[in-house]
Amino acid sequence: MLRVAVIGSGPSGVYTAQTLVEQDPAVLVDVLDRLPCPYGLVRYGVAPDHEKIKSLQNNLRTVLEHERIRFLGGVHIGAGGVPAARLRELYHAVVYCVGAATDRHLGIPGEELPGSWSATRFVSWYSAHPDAVDDGFVRGARSAVVIGVGNVAVDVTRILARGEAELRTTDMPQAALDALAASTVTEVHMVGRRGPSQARFTTKELRELGALPGAEVRVDPAELALDPSYTDPSGLPAVQRRNVEVLRGWAAAPPRNTPRRIHVRFYLRPVELLADGGRVGAVRFERTVPDGLGGVRGTGAYEDIEAQLVLRSVGYRGLPLEGLPFDDATGTIPHSAGRVAPGVYVAGWIKRGPTGVIGTNRPCAKETVMSLLEDAPVLVRADVPEDPVAALRALGAQPVEWSGWQAIERAEAELGASLGRGVVKLPDWPSLRGAARGEAPRRSAELPDRSRASRAKHPA
Ligand code: NAP
Repeated sequence: MLRVAVIGSGPSGVYTAQTLVEQDPAVLVDVLDRLPCPYGLVRYGVAPDHEKIKSLQNNLRTVLEHERIRFLGGVHIGAGGVPAARLRELYHAVVYCVGAATDRHLGIPGEELPGSWSATRFVSWYSAHPDAVDDGFVRGARSAVVIGVGNVAVDVTRILARGEAELRTTDMPQAALDALAASTVTEVHMVGRRGPSQARFTTKELRELGALPGAEVRVDPAELALDPSYTDPSGLPAVQRRNVEVLRGWAAAPPRNTPRRIHVRFYLRPVELLADGGRVGAVRFERTVPDGLGGVRGTGAYEDIEAQLVLRSVGYRGLPLEGLPFDDATGTIPHSAGRVAPGVYVAGWIKRGPTGVIGTNRPCAKETVMSLLEDAPVLVRADVPEDPVAALRALGAQPVEWSGWQAIERAEAELGASLGRGVVKLPDWPSLRGAARGEAPRRSAELPDRSRASRAKHPA
């Protein structure tokens, strides 16, 4: 049997594991994750009000319950955890599917002022990531600026503009729900440095902003008209053409009297965050115009937009991994068809950068798996332990197995029931670890069916 460790249980890791067992009947896969919970950004990045995308967890679950795939949560690989070199001794091959773990920076003055945060930090907080801290994001804020016009910017804009009633039905942790319910933010400005036809958001996501019951979208037609494609979008690719059409509709709509407003702005490049009383008070933008090459140039005219909360949503970035090469310019690990070296592979965002939709990870994983299986004859060694879990424990790891994750799921269902909500996520390490050990109260009659199936595979 070929023993493979897949590091990371988000879509790229799970699709890698799935492709491995589909392509080769003699492969055993351990999917290791630093967190005790699986699913990566599907659990900790997809917005809580995107229930349909979140339901993809059910597909990922089916894969992780495959008889030749095992989930081992709570195992950190690298500095402070299991050394990467030791991991190589425990498995015939290792595939890193660790995503792009940090955010990109603007590199402008004032970026680090209190009240200015990366969008990923805000997303982690309302998604109950156990490393997230409550930065008081919306507390005391009237106006928020979101810098960037990608789908993450749309997500955080929407969450800021949604009312409590709509958020209550999600699995958002209670503290974040309470804070957002008390939010006094009435103006949300989502700002792009280029034009509407270069925005990175997709049309379905953009349209959702116009469907929020308590908020209206405002777009300045004069700003749209700076884009040469505005008057005739017919030459644009389909997504951009539809985006421009949606924006045109909003620009032509009369104002409504809603409690909150979303201002979608273009051709404004952030140059400085301005302080007010020791925290951010406004963002200074320079007006830009198209340069005729798809980029923009500054005009020397400036506009300040008031903001007590600034969310920088300018993309993710990969981090270097112990003992592996790293391309600092792209934030990715150099590879050839997913192969870093025989026995070491990459898939997902750490391989190709933070782009594409969840489904993009399927062909990406397949390419990597094909490289790995091509190498298989030279990878098989006799000195790989029968079961690496004992070795991982000896190295200080405390793996959370599938039954532990299921105990977390039960605890989250019970927490939600006690709050009169649906499932509510546990937001911190002690409660996740405690729940995984079965410390949370349980009522076995309420166990979901899927728990029973898996209990047979992984007896407690
Ligand atoms: P993204 O799509 O790369 O968008 C980043 C945005 O930041 C762009 O508008 C970019 O403008 C802007 N930007 C970059 N540097 C800037 C700077 N220095 N100053 C001002 N603006 C700057 O990144 P993302 O929104 O983080 O999304 C990452 C990936 O996740 C994407 O593939 C996205 O589609 C996906 N995602 C999908 C969903 C969904 O399907 N619902 C939800 C969330 C995320 P320029 O174009 O001018 O560089």
